[in-house]
Amino acid sequence: MSDPNEIDRWKSEVWDTLPREEQQRIIDARKQYLRRKRHDEYIAYLNTPQWQLLRRLKIEEAKGRCEVCMGKENLQVHHRTYERLFRESLSDLTVLCDACHELYHANDKVRKITA
Ligand SMILES: [Zn+2]
Ligand SMILES: [Zn+2]
Repeated sequence: MSDPNEIDRWKSEVWDTLPREEQQRIIDARKQYLRRKRHDEYIAYLNTPQWQLLRRLKIEEAKGRCEVCMGKENLQVHHRTYERLFRESLSDLTVLCDACHELYHANDKVRKITA
């Protein structure tokens, strides 16, 4: 199988030989790649029967209403937490209409910026 010391060799023989700016450039590119990959995986997940079922159960549980304004139109299911992403329980989710969902996330951003 894999050599447990390979990482140390890779670090000293490859990584450490690169200039500092080059290391930073590579790390930033990888971070961007991983963010995009995770985002793509998430989007793909939203199309699975598993998520569609969970979404339907959550909306049923909320009696087909937005849990903030009680509206019945354009319902979306918001993640309270991504802790159990891909195996969420109903309590990880909240039903929101598109307007409340948008408002919440806009507000969330404001809080983070001003915090
Ligand atoms: Zn609403
Ligand atoms: Zn959300």
